Amino acid sequence: MLSLSKILFTALIVVVVWQGFKLFTRKSQVSGQEQPKQTGHDKKAKQQKQEAVAHDLEKCPKCGVYHAEGAAHRCDV
Ligand SMILES: [Zn+2]
Repeated sequence: MLSLSKILFTALIVVVVWQGFKLFTRKSQVSGQEQPKQTGHDKKAKQQKQEAVAHDLEKCPKCGVYHAEGAAHRCDV
């Protein structure tokens, strides 16, 4: 049968492991977010990555359709 001290000890271990995991996860997220800002090389790489994801849109003067900048566009209207 579990004694109160064993229950408290188990709860303490769970809390310590949980807090430690949270701290480790937050630390890894912070280092992953702030390092690119500090070093120019990583910042440039991050910008290129963002540009690859978010395409700039150009509005076609003829049909008004927004299409990816530089991409081949053919007016259907
Ligand atoms: Zn067009």
